[in-house]
Formats: sequence, C-alpha cells, structure tokens
Amino acid sequence: VALGNGNLAEISKSARVPAYDRTSLTPGIAHFGVGNFHRAHQCVYLDDLFATGAGHDWAVVGLGVRPEEKAAFADLAAQDGLFTVTEVDEGVRRTRVIGSVIRVVEPGDRAAIMAVLTDPAIRIVTLTITEGGYYMSGDEPDFDHPDLAADAADLDASRTVFGLIASALAGRHAAGTPPFTVLCCDNLPHNGVLTRRLVTGLARKADPALADHIERTVAFPNSMVDRITPATTPAQAQSLRAETGIEDKRPVFCEPFIQWVVEERFCNGRPALESVGVTFVEDVTPYELMKLRILNAGHATIAYPAALVGLTYAHDAMRDDLVLRFFRDVEENELLPTAPGIEGVSREDYLATVTARFANPAIGDTLRRLALDGSNRQPKFILPSVRERRARGEDISGLALVGALWCRYCYGTLEDGTAIEPNDPNWDTLQAAARAARDEPRRFLEQRDIFGDLGSDAVYADAFASHLEALWRDGVRPVLEAHLARSKS
Ligand code: NAD
Repeated sequence: VALGNGNLAEISKSARVPAYDRTSLTPGIAHFGVGNFHRAHQCVYLDDLFATGAGHDWAVVGLGVRPEEKAAFADLAAQDGLFTVTEVDEGVRRTRVIGSVIRVVEPGDRAAIMAVLTDPAIRIVTLTITEGGYYMSGDEPDFDHPDLAADAADLDASRTVFGLIASALAGRHAAGTPPFTVLCCDNLPHNGVLTRRLVTGLARKADPALADHIERTVAFPNSMVDRITPATTPAQAQSLRAETGIEDKRPVFCEPFIQWVVEERFCNGRPALESVGVTFVEDVTPYELMKLRILNAGHATIAYPAALVGLTYAHDAMRDDLVLRFFRDVEENELLPTAPGIEGVSREDYLATVTARFANPAIGDTLRRLALDGSNRQPKFILPSVRERRARGEDISGLALVGALWCRYCYGTLEDGTAIEPNDPNWDTLQAAARAARDEPRRFLEQRDIFGDLGSDAVYADAFASHLEALWRDGVRPVLEAHLARSKS
C-alpha cells in the first residue's frame, strides 16, 4: 500500500498510524534539513503530542536550500508528507507512520521559503543541517566561505539557512510580525549560541540595526538531541515492504532510545512537548557534557582498539570481551567521574543505557564512522576529561591509552596490515605525525591545535608514549590486557 492520507485506514492494519485527524493540523514550525534525523526525532515527538489532542497548531513545514533535496521532497509530497519510522532492537521492529509534516516547499525556491518564514503562523524555525552546515572558523562565522560571503554582500538574495533566517526576521520586523524562535537541533555543543552568531553576524554585515533587533528580540535556545539514526539501506527499505506491505519511498530506521533537552527560552510560544518526554531546562550545559563525556568519549574508547583488531561494527566491539572490559574500565574509572552531576539524573543509569545502545546490533553503526574526524573529536570528547583529572592529580592512564590507540590508527594500517582509508579532514597531517611518532611518540603530541599544552604535561606525555611504544611492540590486545591488569591492582 502506498503512503498517503487516503490509505491510512488500510495501513493501520499493519502499522501504527497518526491517532489524530491530520486535516486539523496547521503550521507552526518551519524546519530546514528534512533528513532522517529530523524525521526520527522532532517529528516523532510532535506526532506523539498531536496524538494527545494537543498542539495541532504546531505542525511542520519542510524547507531546504540544497538542490539534492529535491528528490526527497518530491517523494514526501507524493506521500502527503507521511513517512514511516521503524524502531529496531534485537529481534524487535516497531513501525509507525508519522504525520507531523504537513507540507514541503520546493528546495531552493527563495520566494516560497520566504513566504513560509514570514508567515505569522510560523513561530519556531528548527534546523538539522549537519555539523558541516555551520560555516564557522573557530568561534566566529567564516565570512570567507563563498556562500556566507555572498549572503553578506546581498542579504535580500540570501541562499544560506542563516541568510534566509536573517532576511525573514527583517521582513517580520518591517511588517510588525513578532519574530520566531530559532531552535538548532544539530549535534553541536551550544548549538543555539553558534546559530545566533551566524545569524546576527550575517545581519550585522548587511544592516547593524537588524543585528541589534535580532539580538534584542530573538531567542536561540541551546538543545541537546540524541537518537542514533543511520542512513537507510536498500535492504531495510525492502524489508519494510515485505513485512508490512507499506510502500514508503523515504523510510527511516532508528534505535528505540530518544532524548531531547531544550533550554526554556522561546520568544513566540512553543508546543507543550514536556507532556511527551522532552526535558525543558534553564541551562543545557550539564546534559551536553554528560553526553560528550560518557557517550561520545565512549564511542572513541571502543572505536580505535576494535577497528585496529579488525572488527567492523559497534556491536562487534561490545561483544568482544576485551574491548568491552576496556570500555567499562575507562568509563567507570576515568570518564564517569568527570561527567557533571545533574539533579534527578543518575550517571550510572546513563552509562548503562549507553552500554546497551552501543550493543544494539540492529543499528549497524560502523566503527569507521565512530573513528571518523578524531582531530575534531578528541579535543571535544576526550582531552577535557584528561585536563580535569590531571588538575586534580587523578589517574589518566586509560584516557592516555585511548589517545595512543587513536595515534596508532592514524598511522593508517590495521594490525593485519590492511590500509585504512583517510578518515579525517586532516588525515595527511595526522598520518605524518603518527608515522613520526612510531619512533618518537611525543611527536604526535606536538600538534598543539589538538593537544594544546597537554603535550608538555609530563605525566600525560609519559603515559601516552609508553602506551604507544607498547602498542607497536606488543600489539593492541596485550596492551589492553596489561592496562586492565594494572587498573585492577
Ligand atoms: P541527513 O543527511 O539525512 O540530513 C541532513 C539534511 O541537511 C539534508 O536535508 C541535507 O540536504 C541538509 N544539509 C546538509 N548540509 C546543509 C547545508 N550546508 N545547508 C543546509 N542544509 C544542509 O542527516 P541526518 O541523519 O538527518 O543528520 C542531520 C544532523 O542531525 C546531523 O548532522 C546531526 O547534527 C544531527 N543528529 C543526527 C543524529 C543521527 O544519528 N543521524 C543523531 C543526533 C543528531
């Protein structure tokens, strides 16, 4: 059965369908980047909310600025905005049809996008445009980026998400329409602050008064989002058809876990998502830190040793007794203690959930993906915990071994000699440093843009160097065993 409003009764025989009348929905949220994650995350929360009978004036209008989105938007439009989300767990799959998106606009059609963004009914603009979509250079907008430079030169012809938002906020101000909240849902620390810098930075180039207006009146709450949602494979799409009879051109598959923590700062109202599990807080920082230090650092802890010994998936790593023991050791002894305490949230429970999520074989998360972009990730996920522990005089042996394993990986070969395809935007530099470090381990730590002054911290540098020497001399498994034996004693 093809997805469409007219077929929902038929589809309800094999999957859960929207438990509300879709014709009662009206637009409230405009969303840029209607990819898999948005559909598995915000759209599911909204669908749950609509099913309670509330918030029907907060339906989603899908926007996009990139031509490659055209095919997906056409497919969604042909399905009346409907799509399936299938939660996959070991042996269990739960498919439901999500009804939160009521319209999609032709990607890149500036006039149509502006018409949506200046509509007074739109009170929130949300974004999931990938980490790479934020054109930053350090903490500041990268106005050398051609797209951002073009928008800064002529905001009225803007084409980036940030230019369109600034331009729409100008239009709303001129028309006496209250501004919308801009809610970033990309996986970046302090994502609201980042988005505000881009929007106001661009506005300031075009018209300082507009930038002042935005700074005064527009809310950019930070938010922490979590749900592992890989790209859909052809096999998954086929299995959906075989198992449910549903023809979905754009199905989404994800883990059962879902989390959204949002700062309570909205300038033009918000849906009552707290009734369906969203956490609203004053400050999202401790939640971000807990995720970075337990989940993201945990990924790095399993990715490098498991990949080096030839494993492929995260769940393979979690089924490897030695890698699992190393993961638990580093998490429990070195990472968990640096995660912030949050009232009503247990770090131990969070770690238990993360451990179970990593082990879910249905997700098929690859170690290669987890090992990606270490030059950006190690300084965000691992090194802050090292610094904190060093300042308190605490043991960092496990985290230094994670660093040494990363360096060993950057050498560019697995233990069996297989070449590793470049897996970092700075791969060439990293590989050169890793090769020099084979004989002189400290050479790797001389990359100050990554390690900062940790390279000259004797305790850290000694631990890193002796781990790396041992990795080359004895191999990954013996080094993990030796670390665990020491850690126990
Ligand atoms: P996706 O590839 O399915 O969708 C990304 C969307 O962003 C596409 O519509 C794409 O066209 C658009 N986009 C890319 N670059 C852009 C740019 N420069 N300007 C405007 N739009 C742009 O990816 P996804 O799985 O939906 O993930 C998107 C983001 O969601 C991630 O980068 C991450 O920040 C966040 N997230 C994803 C997951 C996950 O497991 N997939 C989990 C948590 C958070």
